[in-house]
Amino acid sequence: MALKLVEELAPAGYERLVYIEDEDAGLRAFVCVHSTVCGPAVGGCRMWNYASKDEARTDVLRLAAGMTHKNAMAGLGLGGGKSVILGDPRSDKSEALFRAFGRAIESFGGSYYTAEDVGISPEDMAIVAKETSYAVGLDHGAHASGDPSPFTAEGVFQCLKIGARAVFGTEDLTGRRVLVQGLGHVGWSLAEKLHAAGAALVVTDVNAAASQKAQVSFGAEVCAPDEVFDQQIDIFAPCALGGVLTHETVARLSAKLVCGAANNQLLEPSVAEDLLKRDCLYLPDYVVNAGGIISVAGEVHHAGPEYRAERLVQIARRIDEIVRTSRKEGKTTIRVADEMVTDILAKARKVADAAA
Ligand code: NAD
Repeated sequence: MALKLVEELAPAGYERLVYIEDEDAGLRAFVCVHSTVCGPAVGGCRMWNYASKDEARTDVLRLAAGMTHKNAMAGLGLGGGKSVILGDPRSDKSEALFRAFGRAIESFGGSYYTAEDVGISPEDMAIVAKETSYAVGLDHGAHASGDPSPFTAEGVFQCLKIGARAVFGTEDLTGRRVLVQGLGHVGWSLAEKLHAAGAALVVTDVNAAASQKAQVSFGAEVCAPDEVFDQQIDIFAPCALGGVLTHETVARLSAKLVCGAANNQLLEPSVAEDLLKRDCLYLPDYVVNAGGIISVAGEVHHAGPEYRAERLVQIARRIDEIVRTSRKEGKTTIRVADEMVTDILAKARKVADAAA
């Protein structure tokens, strides 16, 4: 059976939702274009063993809208979209599946660019790229951007220093106790930078070997993954999972600043109010962790290294602005950031309407 693309009714505020199926290739996927108001939609492809098609649809809708926010805030001239492939990344991958997916992406004609996300490797994306010019985050090729993690870590580090200045009156991190949760691609790179800046590291990872390595390399203190919120720290840098900031954990958090790479750190939006009440400055995750998408955007725009450097500086400036506005208006930083995005999108829509 050939590749089948089925247009689904996109919810209000979304441009397009397409269900993709190729039985021979074993492909079942969704592509969601949330917004192209700022430019072509860009967002990774996630492969996940979803319990149902409905669960996959809900996930792609949530993730695509998040990409519009992240890309608009980072000033990339890109919109937001996402794709999800239904299947077990450990057992269901094949060349035929990724080629069929690539043909589906090509049919969007450049209104959506895909890249790696959870469950998808650069090797998988290289197969997708055999069928489409709209696959990015590649390791090889004239404009390949490679591993985005170092850029993500650099963006988080720059924002963390802005946060430190706002909270402690200085960007100097010497002796500051910073807890890095998750020593993976981003967390390790961030820990290196913090160590070089003189911070006193506390680390945790479910992978004990990673923590031990940090103990040796950085003289870090190690804590167990379930003891994170019992530590006396100045700064918390969540770089593992989402949903770590809850009403319960925030009540136990000693840090005065939260700045890390993990997506969706707040379990629910109202947790931001708890952080504000506790006088703990939370730097919105989708603003500080945009370094990776900035790196990918350089590939989309065929831009040189200066493009990435400029955009990284820009996210630090945005954080500065968010913190100032939040303090002036007594609003949570996430609310200020969301309002800025609404404003950016409204302006872009005006420009697009005027050009139409
Ligand atoms: P990764 O998989 O390389 O690292 C995650 C690390 O967290 C691993 O070492 C893992 O063992 C550890 N971990 C998992 N559960 C844990 C727990 N309960 N307690 C402590 N440690 C735990 O992932 P990554 O690429 O470094 O990304 C980290 C986070 O940043 C993710 O939430 C990701 O979505 C987000 N993010 C990454 C990028 C990027 O460029 N890689 C960009 C934006 C956002």
